[in-house]
Amino acid sequence: MRLISFADGHGPRIGLIEPEEGFVLDLRAADPRLPWDMASFIAHGRPGREAARTAAEQARPEARRPLEEVALLPPIPLPPRNIVCVGKNYAAHAGELSGTAGTLGGAAGGLPEHPIFFTKAPTAVIGPGDAIPAWLDYTGSVDYEGELAVVIGAGGRGIRAAEAWDHVFGLTIVNDVTSRELQQRHHQWFLGKSLDGFCPMGPELVTADEIADIEAVRVTTTVNGEKRQDGRLVDLIFAIPILIETLSRTMTLVPGDVIATGTPEGVGAGFSPPKYLRAGDLVEVHVSGIGTLRNPVE
Ligand code: ZN
Repeated sequence: MRLISFADGHGPRIGLIEPEEGFVLDLRAADPRLPWDMASFIAHGRPGREAARTAAEQARPEARRPLEEVALLPPIPLPPRNIVCVGKNYAAHAGELSGTAGTLGGAAGGLPEHPIFFTKAPTAVIGPGDAIPAWLDYTGSVDYEGELAVVIGAGGRGIRAAEAWDHVFGLTIVNDVTSRELQQRHHQWFLGKSLDGFCPMGPELVTADEIADIEAVRVTTTVNGEKRQDGRLVDLIFAIPILIETLSRTMTLVPGDVIATGTPEGVGAGFSPPKYLRAGDLVEVHVSGIGTLRNPVE
């Protein structure tokens, strides 16, 4: 099941991408009992997904719209909590930052023994096509980080790695946009990662059953068409089940929680001199099987 959120003038609605190319089913128009917003839909669990499938089979033609006519929102327009992110989860990326001082670098040897978690404010989230407001970073050090993100379905505490995929609703794409100078200056990643508009997300939320082989998934990032990042999920230092087990060992995960799994080698800060984003740039994060998240920079 491939889902989007879109605006219709009254607020967010949920769309189901149809097998027939270029069309989307307005779930609420197909079945008024279904929730309006993605976070509620996720919280409905399996019964919600089954109701959506039934609605799709029985939908009247009026419930269908051409995809190009809908105004896309982030798949989860206002996440219930901060976005959880993972620092240095690809060895090559840890290496490119290990020579950097302070909070960009960190642990000796560069490779973490345990997952490094930090968060981004939910107010940083913007949708596909929305402009990243680089002008907000008064230090002029805006960087991209293309990432696969996991969305939690059934929450809980004490989730074991072996059962972790049962708690995953789906997968989407996040660009963990960062002010490198603020990240460095404030000795903590929250401020430099939480500027308004610094968390593009989408375009689709793809349920986990659609991805046959997670390890084969690739994350690539281009800036103005120039390839900067190209990573494979098989190279994650801490795989998705380990991240979920580690987080939920001591805290309750809730439906709609978003966990960005880390970025591969090739961020702007890794170049000498750094290749930071500027107004007029176009950043595209492609994740195989999930889609392409495109955002201009202003
Ligand atoms: Zn990141």
